[in-house]
Amino acid sequence: MRIVTGGIAQETNTFQWQPTTLEDFSRAGFGTLARGQEILDLDGTGTVYGGAVGEARRHGVDLIPTTYGGVMPGGRVTREAFDSIRDEILAGIRNALPVDGVLLVLHGAMALEDHDDAEGLLLAAVRDAVGPDVPIVAPLDLHTNLSNEMVDLADALVGYKEYPHVDMPETGAQAVQILVAMLQDRARPAMARTRLPLVAPNQSMVTTWQSPLKTAIDRARELEREPGVLAATVLGGFPFADVPFAGISTIVVTDGDPARARRYADELAAICWERRDDFTIHPTPVADAIAEAMAAPEGSVYVLADIADSGASGTAGDGTVVLRGLIEAGARSAAVAQVMDREAVEACVAAGVGSEVTLTVGGKHDGLHGPPLEVTGSVRLIHEGTFTIAGPMGSGTVASRGRTVVLEIGGPDRIELQLTELRGHPHDLNFFRAFGIEPTQRRILVLKSAAHFRAAFEPIATKVVEVDAPGISSPTLTSFQYTRLRRPIYPLDRDAQWSPES
Ligand SMILES: [Zn+2]
Repeated sequence: MRIVTGGIAQETNTFQWQPTTLEDFSRAGFGTLARGQEILDLDGTGTVYGGAVGEARRHGVDLIPTTYGGVMPGGRVTREAFDSIRDEILAGIRNALPVDGVLLVLHGAMALEDHDDAEGLLLAAVRDAVGPDVPIVAPLDLHTNLSNEMVDLADALVGYKEYPHVDMPETGAQAVQILVAMLQDRARPAMARTRLPLVAPNQSMVTTWQSPLKTAIDRARELEREPGVLAATVLGGFPFADVPFAGISTIVVTDGDPARARRYADELAAICWERRDDFTIHPTPVADAIAEAMAAPEGSVYVLADIADSGASGTAGDGTVVLRGLIEAGARSAAVAQVMDREAVEACVAAGVGSEVTLTVGGKHDGLHGPPLEVTGSVRLIHEGTFTIAGPMGSGTVASRGRTVVLEIGGPDRIELQLTELRGHPHDLNFFRAFGIEPTQRRILVLKSAAHFRAAFEPIATKVVEVDAPGISSPTLTSFQYTRLRRPIYPLDRDAQWSPES
């Protein structure tokens, strides 16, 4: 069995003005451009390939790697970046022909500067290269905005079931299993999808608590245990993308039974639709969250999640509202990860470790996350910014946010602010430990992250509080100006209707 593999994965926040470039894909630790053996070397990491490579080996599959490009969520991807990586993948596939199958690693919510459905384009190009009879199976992110083209062009699609995405390896392995079953004539996939007129905030899709999406995903897991169900997926969609097909959808792949696939896809969708009111998130006012954390017993660790400025959802991560709240409240033992501000990093580096500096930080990228804030502090550490993720999400991969400065504001044991050159999202304890901050020993941890932080930080947190600050990953979807999203759609249109027959 010769299975060729490659892919492009990026999550596009169309409210982010800054495009995502080929250079971003190439920036180690911020993006990944893996070619040939480098793809196979991802075996064992907390990535899709971390599970797919080993699973292929177990089945005796000759997995032929081409090119895989992944990058931090952000603005629309440039044509140059997409075309360049796509062409490498296609060249690799043509070199490998004839092949028995394709494992195409996708995100599912990537938009280009001139096209809303990048995955549809890539699938069409790959389909064209291999012809109509070679199966294409694609693992998808839980935040996929599913287009019709994706379903039409792939033989089977299977999404992550966990958010934080700690099950990327399992999903990669499952995709390989489906391909192998097809190639061994043990399965003939029949795929059905249901798309709801429902868009939901990311924070309502979390699976570390019984979110409404998790209720549907639990049912999907049950379905997958039934004989003849190859994959059952509930996609939360990515709401910060103003594209026509954004929102919640379901995909069920059965072995040769289209009616059953349709019935189950509708059943999973109905679970979400019945709970559509429960997808609303009610964040806590910043001042209230800080006051509660400061009043908590000695030894408490409060995570204040700045969910509206999450780099994992493509924001700049330079919001200042929570930092201002900490300063105004005279907070103690507070560590902030992070504020992206290249100029501020430059100024701190120029001043040097031990210097006291007064400078404005953050609020410079798009003005949507609070204004620039003047702070005075002491430069405690300058780091080149690269470190390894320890897990449980993305373990073994390398993260980089460019040069990183720890600025101590208000003196020792007050506020430790990380200033970074690149945006990011702190989903691992090493986002503190790499910079000499022990997160279990801080009263307040401010994390610019929508949900991925939960995998590593819930176990050490006394309490997680989602705070109400502005930004382009805000759970208040009615605050976004959608122009391309299909309507009517809930909750923007309270009278939106859906039934399985529709
Ligand atoms: Zn995701």
